Amino acid sequence: MATPDLAQHRTAGADTATQPASAADRLPGIRHIIAIGSGKGGVGKSTVSVNLALALRQRGARVGLVDADIHGPSVPVMLGLPTGEPPAMTAEERIVPATRHGLKLISMAMLTGDDNPAILRGPMVSKYLRLFVGSVDWGRLDYLLLDLPPGTGDTQLTLAQSFPLSGAIIVTTPQEVSLRIARRGLRMFETVHVPVLGIVENMSTFTCPHCGGATDIFRRGGGALLSQALGVPFLGAIPLDGKVVECGDEGRPIVSDRPESAAALAYVAIAAQLERALERLPAAGLQPFEWAWEKNEGGPAWLESAARLAGGHTTAIGLRRRDPRTLSVLWEDGGRSDFDVRDLRLACRCAFCVEETSGRALLDPKKVRADVAPLKIKSVGNYAVAITWNDGHSTGIYAFDYLRAFADGNRAGEAEDV
Ligand code: ADP
Repeated sequence: MATPDLAQHRTAGADTATQPASAADRLPGIRHIIAIGSGKGGVGKSTVSVNLALALRQRGARVGLVDADIHGPSVPVMLGLPTGEPPAMTAEERIVPATRHGLKLISMAMLTGDDNPAILRGPMVSKYLRLFVGSVDWGRLDYLLLDLPPGTGDTQLTLAQSFPLSGAIIVTTPQEVSLRIARRGLRMFETVHVPVLGIVENMSTFTCPHCGGATDIFRRGGGALLSQALGVPFLGAIPLDGKVVECGDEGRPIVSDRPESAAALAYVAIAAQLERALERLPAAGLQPFEWAWEKNEGGPAWLESAARLAGGHTTAIGLRRRDPRTLSVLWEDGGRSDFDVRDLRLACRCAFCVEETSGRALLDPKKVRADVAPLKIKSVGNYAVAITWNDGHSTGIYAFDYLRAFADGNRAGEAEDV
């Protein structure tokens, strides 16, 4: 399945050219962005990211990997990449990702050196990372995996919100405590409306290389139980295997170095499960919302990954405050309409603004103040929004098909003017 080239069009008035485009807009050509998280460090999240990326690659996908684990970037070592060497740039000043084992890779360690992440603390992390990832010349990718920092704090939360994620994977070890922490990770993704694609249990059963006997060093099956309890898919378990460590330390990940090993086969099976989990994602739809416009709080999602060429022309899959005067709507067919908020106020079709029987305009545009703006935008079912305005008006409902026609009409008007 190819990513639709998102036909971006502008309609009513607003100059969005001066607005910095968000990360969601700036990663065209990438089909799925998937975050890989864990409640705590040391569960093998980075190892899983690298090997899962390779397993997806083995299945024929084009895969990129972002080492977003800024405070402990270990991916370059696992892939045998030098750190602290500035990446090459294209003529258009875009960053050329490193390539290893057929994967495209970037890591903050490539910029900072792996022992100098101190400049990147707190909210700066997500800001830099967004800029960084958005400036990479990825080309077309089926998957871009983000190896998140461990934990469920603010950093992870902002990172999860900084990218148009298709979903997240949680890595856990089978122990009770690790599972409890994984549950917290799961909740975190749910809060920001990122679907959890599944749980990977790492360091599961240990198979003795000498006698072939199986031992459950950290118990077993906890990941599967957790998946069941929380209603998310279980993607699979990776055995505890000393070779994983050895390969990781030497820059030869196990999936490419020992493709016949039980661990490598487990990764390939997990990659297949992941593909299935992505196919099963519910059709895109906006959750109900009540959006405080000025503070930009409570707004709906922007489900760019749900756009497809055959998608609905009037199905909204995202709304966003592009700037204080511009409302953007993303349509399922990949189009985007930007509405100047005053134009929207003038386009109100409620009974106070338009005479029902004759269709005569009752609203005098000259009496609508220049700084009219929404106070609140609320979803109405899945087909419209209701807007409460700062001029006291609150009876207007804007159906999505009306908004799209309004946008298309304005476009036609613009084209005629040329
Ligand atoms: P995290 O990213 O969660 O901090 P890492 O991926 O850096 O964890 O892994 C921590 C350590 O565990 C590394 O030494 C790694 O080689 C080892 N490890 C990861 N997965 C396995 C496994 N399945 N079997 C044995 N060791 C593993």
